[in-house]
Amino acid sequence: MRELDLAWPRDPPTAVRPRAAAVDFARAYAPTFYLDVGTACPLHCIYCCVERGDADRDVRIEAAEVLRARMAAGRRMGLDRLTWIGGEAASRPDLFDLAAHARSIGFRGLTLTTKSIKLARPEFVSRLRASGFDLIHLSLDSFDPQVIAHHIGSATAAPRLLDGLREALRQRVALFLFAVVTRHTVDGLDGFVDAIARLQDETGAAIPAVVSPLKLLSRAERAGDLAPPLGQVARAVAQACARAERRGVTLLHKTLPPCLRGGADDWALEHYLDEGRRLVGADLPLQGFRPGGLAFGPPCEGCPSRARCPGVDRAYVARAGWGEFGFGSSAQ
Ligand code: SF4
Repeated sequence: MRELDLAWPRDPPTAVRPRAAAVDFARAYAPTFYLDVGTACPLHCIYCCVERGDADRDVRIEAAEVLRARMAAGRRMGLDRLTWIGGEAASRPDLFDLAAHARSIGFRGLTLTTKSIKLARPEFVSRLRASGFDLIHLSLDSFDPQVIAHHIGSATAAPRLLDGLREALRQRVALFLFAVVTRHTVDGLDGFVDAIARLQDETGAAIPAVVSPLKLLSRAERAGDLAPPLGQVARAVAQACARAERRGVTLLHKTLPPCLRGGADDWALEHYLDEGRRLVGADLPLQGFRPGGLAFGPPCEGCPSRARCPGVDRAYVARAGWGEFGFGSSAQ
C-alpha cells in the first residue's frame, strides 16, 4: 500500500472569521481516510463524475482483500475513522462484513457516503448503526422529487431517497447533506436552506449541508449545459449561506475559487478541512481534483489568493473562458 486519500481538520482554520459550526463539522468528519470501494452504482446520475470509460461500462469493483489492506494502512497511519466512497458502497453485499473488519482492527468511526434508497428501509439503517456507521454523507441536491428524479435518472427512486433521509433522522443517525449545484438547482438554493431549517425544527436534529459546483468529469463533462456559470453558482451560494446563517443552518461550500466567494468566504469548507493524498510521506493533490485538470489564467496573475486557490476546472474555462474570475470581477 503506497498511498491513501485523507482529510484532516485545519487547525487553526484559515477563515477570517472562523465559524464554530464549521469547525465542529470538520472535527466530526475528520481526520479520516477515504476508502474507495469501486465505481459500481445502481443509479445513473446525469452529473456523475466517477470515471467508467466513454461508454460507462468500465466498472471497477475493489476486492475485499484490497479494501482490508487499505484499512490496515489507515490504521498504521494512526487513523481511526474511515469514509466509504464509490460508486455506491451501500450496494456492496459485503458492506457489513467489511465494516465488522474495520471495527475489529480499531476503527471507531465510519462515515458512509451514499445516495442509496436502501436508507428508506428501517432495518438497513438499524444495521448501519449497529455496524458502527455513525455519520452519513447523504448526496441530496434538492427536496423537490422531480429535480432529484431528473438528476438521478429515476422517478421511483427520488421519493425513496427523501424517505431515506427521514428514516436516518428518525433513527438519530448523524448526517449531513451534500448537494451538487446544477442549472436545475442553482435558483433553488434558498428553498433548499428553508427545507433543511424546517426539517431541523421538526426533528430537533442538526443537518449541516455542503454545496458544490459540478466537477466536469465523466458523465458531467458529457452532459452539455448542465453546469451553470460559476459566477451564478457563487452568487446563489453566497445568498444561501447568508440565509442559512439567519435560519440556524450550517451551510458550507466547496471548490469555489476565492475570487468568486464574495461574502461567503468564511463558509468555504477549505478553510476548515484539508484533503490530500499521502504517498509514503509526500503530499499530493486528492485524486478527485484531477491533477492537471485545474488551471490558472490571466486574472490569476498577481492574485493575492493564488497560494490558497486550487485553480479552476480546465474543462470549465475551456467552455466559459476567464471572464468571471479575478477579484473585482462582475461575478462577485
Ligand atoms: S483570480 Fe485565479 S488564483 Fe485568484 S482566486 Fe480567482 S481563480 Fe484563484
